Amino acid sequence: MFASLKRLFEDKCPVCSKRLIACHDSDWSAKACPDGHYKVENYGALGVQIVYDPSNPSGTPNITD
Ligand SMILES: [Zn+2]
Repeated sequence: MFASLKRLFEDKCPVCSKRLIACHDSDWSAKACPDGHYKVENYGALGVQIVYDPSNPSGTPNITD
């Protein structure tokens, strides 16, 4: 249940709540707002996730590993 709720949240833009557009390659995937508010890139081979979040005032992507 919690996993499905989390997934639901992750698939929507936090700014406009539009459904994120997903795209992927063999070792890379991304979800992005169609209006460009929000973007998440996942590099599976590196175990790295990069979040482009408009609420981050520095403009520097959050990189988690
Ligand atoms: Zn948006």
